[in-house]
Amino acid sequence: MAVDGDSRDWDGRWNHVKKFLERPGPFTHPDFEPSIESLGFLLETCKILVIGAGGLGCELLQNLALSGFRHIHVVDMDTIDISNLNRQFLFRFGLPFSPLLLCPLIFYFMMDSNLKFHIIVCGLDSIIARRWMNGMLISLLSYEDGVLDPSSIIPLIDGGTEGFKGNARVILPDMTACIDCTLELYPPQIHFPMCTIASMPRLPEHCVEYVRMLQWPKDEPFGGTTMNNTTLCVVKRIIPAVASTNAVIAAACSTEVFKMASSTYIPLNNYLVFNIVDGLYTYTFEAERKENCSACSQVPQDLQFPPSAKLQEVLEYLTENASLQMKSPAITATLEGKNKTLYLQTIASIEERTRPNLCKTLKELVLSDGQELAVADVTTPQTVLFKLKLTF
Ligand SMILES: [Zn+2]
Repeated sequence: MAVDGDSRDWDGRWNHVKKFLERPGPFTHPDFEPSIESLGFLLETCKILVIGAGGLGCELLQNLALSGFRHIHVVDMDTIDISNLNRQFLFRFGLPFSPLLLCPLIFYFMMDSNLKFHIIVCGLDSIIARRWMNGMLISLLSYEDGVLDPSSIIPLIDGGTEGFKGNARVILPDMTACIDCTLELYPPQIHFPMCTIASMPRLPEHCVEYVRMLQWPKDEPFGGTTMNNTTLCVVKRIIPAVASTNAVIAAACSTEVFKMASSTYIPLNNYLVFNIVDGLYTYTFEAERKENCSACSQVPQDLQFPPSAKLQEVLEYLTENASLQMKSPAITATLEGKNKTLYLQTIASIEERTRPNLCKTLKELVLSDGQELAVADVTTPQTVLFKLKLTF
């Protein structure tokens, strides 16, 4: 289909994009060849999956739609709430821009879909979902005689924001550092909502809670009858800054998507940090692959324990170790040719049946040196294999 003849486009609609695609420049990729064909690829062929349609995701959708991408699919687990302005924006702006944009209410899994996406963009606030997606893309890689088939690589552009801080990164599975390679950068999540409210209130709800729980009892303004003014102050100070973080990170991610899809410029290598906590600070560094990354290294993971260690200790290691950070690991072992579930938390009846194993030692469970343990967890679509190394 001729792009200019498309009824959705008016004359010169994509001139801003053509400037990047149809002429050389001092910063273009060394192999870039200006072409009038490139725009057609962006408009008609390139399929992008955006995961997350919250504050960051909606900014991403807007930027991508305005950059010429039309095949944008959105996955979001949340439903649209009347108070959620971000998602309402989708209906006001997103749909007219991009007729093929799917409503975030439609939730589907990559595995069930026949779609082959060219690029995945994450605008998530969940590390678990990110890790799962990362693992998914690694599982889709194909090898021939041990050599990676480059056409099986689906780039992952990952954006993350937390209040006044953000990051954008480009991940090429099995080529650059993956999410799990740098897991130590994410501190294990702290389950003290009060802390978030007191130190980093970033949502209107946090701000209101901040005032209600902390500021109000302390100040007792207006004789303790109304808190509207104080609340407004906090909201006015914090919300614009958080919105800016989302806008900047979304812009960085969309730029990377454009670079990746058009091959016009060298992609980000590979981690951008952005911080507006105190002034503005940003830099880029190359996150390195971790040799024994549990997601992308294909190296069996060692578990070192004395035979007297209890299964509970192994479980704690899997959840607390900074480079594993599993959530509810299920451990199975093949013993005498049979699969045996040592512990499984997510199904109540099995949890009850396997719970006594937690107090047993590895010796009592007849686990010997070199025993393979298969661990399944919500942080990965694939089972992670560990090798037990008994220490004496
Ligand atoms: Zn990795």
